[in-house]
Amino acid sequence: TIELRDIKKAFAKTDVLKGVNLRIGDGEFVSLVGPSGCGKSTLLRIIAGLEDQTSGDVLIGGKSVVGVRPSARDLAMVFQSYALYPHLSVEENMMTPLRLRDLNATERLPLIGPLLPSHRRKLNAIKSAVAETAATLKITPLLHRKPGQLSGGQRQRVALGRAMVRKPVAFLMDEPLSNLDAALRVHMRSELSELHRALGSTFIYVTHDQAEALTMSDRIAVMMGGEILQFATPDQVYDDPQDLRVAEFIGSPK
Ligand code: ATP
Ligand code: MG
Repeated sequence: TIELRDIKKAFAKTDVLKGVNLRIGDGEFVSLVGPSGCGKSTLLRIIAGLEDQTSGDVLIGGKSVVGVRPSARDLAMVFQSYALYPHLSVEENMMTPLRLRDLNATERLPLIGPLLPSHRRKLNAIKSAVAETAATLKITPLLHRKPGQLSGGQRQRVALGRAMVRKPVAFLMDEPLSNLDAALRVHMRSELSELHRALGSTFIYVTHDQAEALTMSDRIAVMMGGEILQFATPDQVYDDPQDLRVAEFIGSPK
């Protein structure tokens, strides 16, 4: 579970999050929706540890992660902008998180330079982990290309693959499809749903696209002005909005 307890965040003197409470079960697909500027990305970044809350607590698996650095939280963040390394191949991009993790481990796997036999074994293990993930995402034929040689949808899949190889407990996604054209976005929606079923991991998915949230989520958190107005299933949010603002946001065409 991922639990948020009364999370508040102020930038300078502006209250951006005004006490957010949320409890997300293992394996749930939860969307955070709401208009631009309501605090979705800030909330996601606080869960990831990329931003500190002003007050309140984040618990992962029942334990507070206050002060725990992002890489130790066992979460994967997928951004709208992909953030792939342009000079590395797809395979190398996907290997990076595991190589970085092993840099901190006892084996001291160097990112560059000569390799010892033990390094070579480690590297082969990483390569097979990448190959397995690539097969799941059907991007094996792309492994030796550079990001510049990929379409938007392919880049998004590689970014997802790079997040997947560490086998995180949860994926945090900030508008991952918003750079794609409408047709591809609809296609990637069903791919993401399929992936969620296959992995069984927790997905926290930020979007301002109501249709996306309604079709993919187990539950939807509707945010406005730094608060969660309703946290319920798509049917409940759609058929029984708790608030006029929820009704207007969910009902309005994008
Ligand atoms: P969008 O849908 O446009 O991505 P959002 O819901 O993700 O919006 P946030 O990025 O979380 O919104 O921003 C919430 C508010 O906090 C906005 O008013 C934004 O201007 C402000 N904000 C975000 N980051 C900072 C920062 N580093 N310093 C000051 N203000 C910030
Ligand atoms: Mg945002």
